[in-house]
Amino acid sequence: MTTTLAPHPATRVRRHPERASYDRAAIDALLDAHWVCQIAFVHDQLPHVIPTAYWRDGDYVYIHGSNGSRMLNMLQDGDSCTNITLIDGMVLARSAFSHSVNYRSVNLYGRYQAVTDAVHKAEAFQKFFDVILPGRWPEVRPPNHKETAATTVLRLPIEQAVLKARSGGPKDDQEDLTRPCWAGVLPFSFHSGAAIAEPDAVGDLNLQADLRWRQRW
Ligand SMILES: Cc1cc2nc3c(=O)[nH]c(=O)nc-3n(C[C@H](O)[C@H](O)[C@H](O)COP(=O)(O)OP(=O)(O)OC[C@H]3O[C@@H](n4cnc5c(N)ncnc54)[C@H](O)[C@@H]3O)c2cc1C
Repeated sequence: MTTTLAPHPATRVRRHPERASYDRAAIDALLDAHWVCQIAFVHDQLPHVIPTAYWRDGDYVYIHGSNGSRMLNMLQDGDSCTNITLIDGMVLARSAFSHSVNYRSVNLYGRYQAVTDAVHKAEAFQKFFDVILPGRWPEVRPPNHKETAATTVLRLPIEQAVLKARSGGPKDDQEDLTRPCWAGVLPFSFHSGAAIAEPDAVGDLNLQADLRWRQRW
């Protein structure tokens, strides 16, 4: 596996380049920590940004949806930009100007490819569950032929990608440091609440303890 991606004109960070990383392990760690992305593409000469679920499998990011999805159809015909952002904290400084955000954010560029092979498609559905709700796949009814046929699966190679991240406390100007004003970081996290069962649900919620997005946030 490639360990460091070559910067591409689209992925070269100019503003705060010291916050950029092209390291595949760092990019993969961020991709694996979340499951919601925003995808930008152009349709009818207008830019659009649509949120959707994703998962990583090896060197690809996968998405899926209805065959009737405009986004899924457009993505096979043109270039796109996919963003995943995790907010780690709000950075509260002594001056309004120096307030900031701690975050990790990945941009991926390229053209999505359709997954048409039946076995690959079936594996992709299971992988989606294994990533987002590990342990649940064996309990649920798998997609039938009609559901599978009605669903498009796309994948994007992780080739043109960049991670940008900020961490740490506020960077106040020297003259503001004595101001009697609280300063520091307000951490943010993303996690599930207590499960709410359907009245006719049978048994207990059975998920593996290592829910990625719960554990890493
Ligand atoms: C939650 C959050 C809040 C933010 N708030 C602000 C704000 O209020 N004001 C502000 O100016 N900036 C903010 N940023 C930073 C912002 O995302 C941009 O990095 C910054 O504005 C520079 O944009 P640019 O187009 O000038 O960067 P450039 O350095 O010119 O961008 C060049 C390339 O670098 C990559 N890149 C740039 N930024 C990111 C990113 N965040 N993630 C992944 N790849 C990136 C892209 O591939 C882009 O094409 C915020 C970021 C996050 C995650």
